[in-house]
Amino acid sequence: MAQLSAPIVSLRGIGPKTVEIFHKHGIITLQDLLYFFPRAWIDASTVTPITELRYGNSALIKVRVVKVQDGFSQRTRIPYLRATVADESGSIEVMWFHAKYLKHKVKPGVDFLLYGKLQPQVRRTDGPLTGMMLAPKFFDRTGIVPVYPTIGGLPSTKIYNFVLQIKNLAQNLEDFIPEQLRQEYDLPSLAEAVCGMHFPESRSQIGAAQRRLGFDELLALVVPAMQAQHEREQETTDELTLGSEAVREWRTTLPFTLTGDQLRVIDEVLADLARPQPMNRLVQGDVGSGKTAVGLAAALQAVRSGKQVAWLAPTEILAQQHFATAQKLLGSALSTEESMALWTRTNHLEWQQGGEEKISVTELSSCPFVIGTHALLSEKVDLPNLGLLIIDEQHRFGVEQRARLRQLSGKTIHLLSMTATPIPRTMALLLYGDLRLSLIKEKPAGRREVTTRVVDEANRAKAFAFMDKHMEAGFQIYTICPTIEPAQDVEANLFSQLFESIDEKKAVATWFEKLKKEFPHRRVGMLHGKMKSKEKDTIMNQFRDHELDILVSTTVIEVGVDVPNATIMVIEDADRFGLAQLHQLRGRVGRGKQQSFCLLFASRNKTMSERLQILESTTDGFELAEKDLALRGPGELTGIMQSGLPNLRFASLEAEQVERVRRVADMLATLPNFQEVSNRLWLTYHPE
Ligand code: ADP
Ligand code: MG
Repeated sequence: MAQLSAPIVSLRGIGPKTVEIFHKHGIITLQDLLYFFPRAWIDASTVTPITELRYGNSALIKVRVVKVQDGFSQRTRIPYLRATVADESGSIEVMWFHAKYLKHKVKPGVDFLLYGKLQPQVRRTDGPLTGMMLAPKFFDRTGIVPVYPTIGGLPSTKIYNFVLQIKNLAQNLEDFIPEQLRQEYDLPSLAEAVCGMHFPESRSQIGAAQRRLGFDELLALVVPAMQAQHEREQETTDELTLGSEAVREWRTTLPFTLTGDQLRVIDEVLADLARPQPMNRLVQGDVGSGKTAVGLAAALQAVRSGKQVAWLAPTEILAQQHFATAQKLLGSALSTEESMALWTRTNHLEWQQGGEEKISVTELSSCPFVIGTHALLSEKVDLPNLGLLIIDEQHRFGVEQRARLRQLSGKTIHLLSMTATPIPRTMALLLYGDLRLSLIKEKPAGRREVTTRVVDEANRAKAFAFMDKHMEAGFQIYTICPTIEPAQDVEANLFSQLFESIDEKKAVATWFEKLKKEFPHRRVGMLHGKMKSKEKDTIMNQFRDHELDILVSTTVIEVGVDVPNATIMVIEDADRFGLAQLHQLRGRVGRGKQQSFCLLFASRNKTMSERLQILESTTDGFELAEKDLALRGPGELTGIMQSGLPNLRFASLEAEQVERVRRVADMLATLPNFQEVSNRLWLTYHPE
């Protein structure tokens, strides 16, 4: 039999095209294919009588074709095939679009197993609402059928048949977890888990398989984190001990009084900097909690201790904003020799008492305090004396980028990360191992909380009037829509074109047009991810300078932007976002003295809007994150954190589970082949 490490060309009946598709998706060996899991399963293990079908639920029916009719829709000229099918209990309509080839298959008197979802059929003419199954799939047997992710147009059944060929090979997968521990934690073996994913005989088998793979996923995070921690403990770096006096003096020059939390976190950071072990600290604080001031204090300490500081921001706009803030808040504390630089794709500036001027990359290398974007990662940039790296909105940067930055100085340096994403503690520990956390929970004095309301469509006109009143008073508004194009769901689109338009698609572009019409006397701008970053910057700057009243945007504005004059955040289709993300978006308003509002439109269903009501009840990001995690599981959370973090597909982050994983990891660490297991885990769960 073939080896796990054998290339996929060794599969029977595989052609060069399929090989290419697999390769493109990182499936090179037979083992990779075993690890290519279904994204869902169709439970077609039981046949449902037609009269027991329920709207919106998918089910398998066993039917005989009674009548067939084909034609073209009147409006869109799309060809369809429509059939009446029946079982002993009753009959139902089914319909396929663009499916001429089915004419030879679907004929009166022929029996089929069909799997699909019953939709309410909205007719233009009067008459009762009847059900219809839209584009049901043909099944040749009952059972649980895996559905593989769509890659390069390969049909799921084709992938399934390839996996079936190597089913026995799963037995050769070496288990990471010793048998005794598996028994203790009631986990199936790796081979059982892998087979349970591809060839389940019951739902519970899938559940057990996912539990096991989730365990491995966490293990794959914890083990390398433990190792990194161990390695860091051995490392040393420069102690940045000077400057606490300067920081104390600087505090008195600020236009505000630092909160208790800010002071405490500054102390924690300064203490870390003074140690010979490289700092690895994450400051977590809700949007607007004042993390920048903490970063500036750290920067001052490092500069006074004779080292360079690099401050990395995820976007051009944020870097500019920080450069301006640093001048305003830190400028007077710097001597005439000490300068600050802004280094981005389009800006190469240096500021010194007296003014700004352009600089070269050589001049940059001797600048004590550098603020910039990814541009700092360029090979040309050299910061030979770097002692401290500050990463703002750290989740926006990938692991490799962070690693590259820490190497800028050629050795391990102090690292301060800041984020507004409230990562629950268990998660943070898992992901960062040795990381120390500093929390800023206290809001600066005098802040007003953003008032949040879930609004239903019936109150749309009222909401528009409310918005207009605010713009009349000179304030600005953000409107967020989830997507930039109409839904990709072709069948749903065809369905709504053929019958009734079921819901209006709120794509940014459409919404932009709509708001322009609704508010012809206001200046409306649009921002989305498909725009060039230069265009984005232009629009964002226009909004900042109040050349726009309304900014219609996708979530691209979510990070750190500070426009205090914006007082209303409107979110369309709010139920499509996670609570944590909505909270981030809400944090864009309420940055000035004015009372601010967040309006959440959610039309789809009632339980969804109940979920949104949690946002009405609290403005505490940490509380929300915990609730969100409880409600939706970790998937979304890692989604928000985006690049730099592995996607947890199966893992549960319950404290108990995490604790077990840690125990297993501790045990593994005592094994002689720990290094090898650690590498294998990492490679298996973090390909590339
Ligand atoms: P974030 O934590 O989101 O990065 P910022 O550091 O940008 O927050 O601070 C948000 C705003 O609050 C800024 O305008 C900042 O000057 C102001 N600020 C920070 N700390 C305080 C404070 N202690 N009192 C009043 N305003 C503050
Ligand atoms: Mg910030």
